[in-house]
Amino acid sequence: MRMSKLLMPTLREVPAEAEIVSHQLMLRAGMIRRLAAGIYSYLPLGLRTLKKVENIVREEMDRAGALELLMPALLPAESYQASGRWEVFGDSMFKLHDRSGRDFCLGPTHEELFTETVLNEVRSYKEYPMTLYQIQTKYRDEGRPRFGLMRGREFVMKDAYSFDLTKEGLDKSYKAMFDAYCRIFTRLGLDFTIVDADSGAMGGSGSQEFMVKSPVGEDGIAYCDACGYAANYEKAECIVSEKQFPEGDLPLEKIDTPKAHTIEELTEFLGTEPHVFAKTIIYKADDKYIAVMVRGDREINEVKLKNLVGCTDDPELAAPSVVRELTHAEVGFAGPIGLEIPVYADKEVTFMKNFVVGANETDRHYRNVNIGRDFEPDVVADLRLVEEGDVCPRCGQQIKTAQGIEVGHIFKLGTKYSDALGLKALDENGDMTSVIMGCYGIGVTRCISAAIEQNHDENGIIWPRSIAPYQVCVVPVNYKDEQQTEAAEKLYEKLLDSGLEALLDDRAERAGVKFKDCDLIGIPLRIVVGKKIGDGIVEFKERTMPEPELKSIDEAISAAVDYFKE
Ligand code: ATP
Ligand code: MG
Repeated sequence: MRMSKLLMPTLREVPAEAEIVSHQLMLRAGMIRRLAAGIYSYLPLGLRTLKKVENIVREEMDRAGALELLMPALLPAESYQASGRWEVFGDSMFKLHDRSGRDFCLGPTHEELFTETVLNEVRSYKEYPMTLYQIQTKYRDEGRPRFGLMRGREFVMKDAYSFDLTKEGLDKSYKAMFDAYCRIFTRLGLDFTIVDADSGAMGGSGSQEFMVKSPVGEDGIAYCDACGYAANYEKAECIVSEKQFPEGDLPLEKIDTPKAHTIEELTEFLGTEPHVFAKTIIYKADDKYIAVMVRGDREINEVKLKNLVGCTDDPELAAPSVVRELTHAEVGFAGPIGLEIPVYADKEVTFMKNFVVGANETDRHYRNVNIGRDFEPDVVADLRLVEEGDVCPRCGQQIKTAQGIEVGHIFKLGTKYSDALGLKALDENGDMTSVIMGCYGIGVTRCISAAIEQNHDENGIIWPRSIAPYQVCVVPVNYKDEQQTEAAEKLYEKLLDSGLEALLDDRAERAGVKFKDCDLIGIPLRIVVGKKIGDGIVEFKERTMPEPELKSIDEAISAAVDYFKE
């Protein structure tokens, strides 16, 4: 491509609308432009990279035996009403209706449609197992669209769905996708971490996320360098860390704690450490109320709580009026003693001695509380959030934490959608059984953001070679020098003939401007044709090399070809 003809509106200034590097660089490199919050146009460079990412995903899905098809984005409401997700998605779903008043949505994800396709089109149980996928635009009216392609309201996802008749079959289909994902993210040049994720009712190794560690990631990861354990915050198992408590079995005391509603206020008032308190928080879980206890220096993990209680909706903090009614006290003084709702205690609480809890009386707490003597929790389980420095649940070393960008997610769904939509088949014993599903997503456009977050410097993008919009750029130093421009043209043609995706910077610009643009848009190789062309010598530079290497024209071409050999 001749750069004089390329629509590549690069920007020198950092656009004010972009907070993170990948978003800034994509705008500056002229890859994307914003139309509305979370909605972008892809200009030629952006589209080329997007197509490359899609193709890598496609090749590996095909290699894993998955079949590509394409569903519409504009979907009638009925399938989502049948699964209950018309309501569940709530405001995140773009809903609309046609001229005769029929309800539609813009598809946020397609479990229902794939399930129905299999229901309608698969004639015999012999056609199972089957994995179907598409690479398609999704719509979600996200509460906080931001960071460019990272969290869009319109974005490209690869979504795949597997259909099996046995649990073992599902394990196999899942493993095939797991392996394909590892190949995909490796080929995309991403340094990724696979973490255990919450799988709701499925349990076990039912869900994993592919994360790219980055401070701008919106997900928390807990990991252990010693043994390789990694899980997201919601899932990470917690081990009890024992702390020092006053010895013996001290007598229970009710104490005045005026205006001490929070742990900070209490520790200050009593002059002690947060770990000698146990917090008691009242939650609404579907239509019942429960009390949840964790040590004062810990936080409750609401996903673990939801799984334990088995409620349909996410547990919510009880309204202050309810807390007052249940505890007969202002918010901040709830405690387990004498409380008439079920008490769920994090297992760490059972290792505490002579600790402090709310007294269910405004401005009062109990001191020297001991489980067994003063109260008995109804349920004891792992209910807290992991923290940096925790003990690794696998090997006992220290847990580290990081932020991560979720680029992919694989999930053993089970029979949720097949049951909801009536997808059954004969199993090996000739019995009708619900088809067992898995679902597998990749944020195709988000991968582009993640790749740039991981690969850039102060001059611009450093594309992994597999997804660079172009591979090599030929730059004549002096566009008025005929010998240079002619040689550059010839070199450009030869690179194209060798099968490389080459750019020729034939613009009437100073060399400095051209070099800056070439770095900004992240082209992996640059070949500069300057004064030494009289001796047949050019300057060859990889994007990350501090200085170019001198090569003959033929050497430069073969070096470029070699660089892109897989
Ligand atoms: P998140 O927790 O980031 O909202 P999710 O769990 O809702 O993601 P899935 O439904 O599992 O996402 O979608 C599959 C993949 O699609 C995700 O792993 C992510 O890479 C990508 N993705 C999800 N939402 C967005 C979005 N708003 N913009 C860009 N990519 C997205
Ligand atoms: Mg997810």
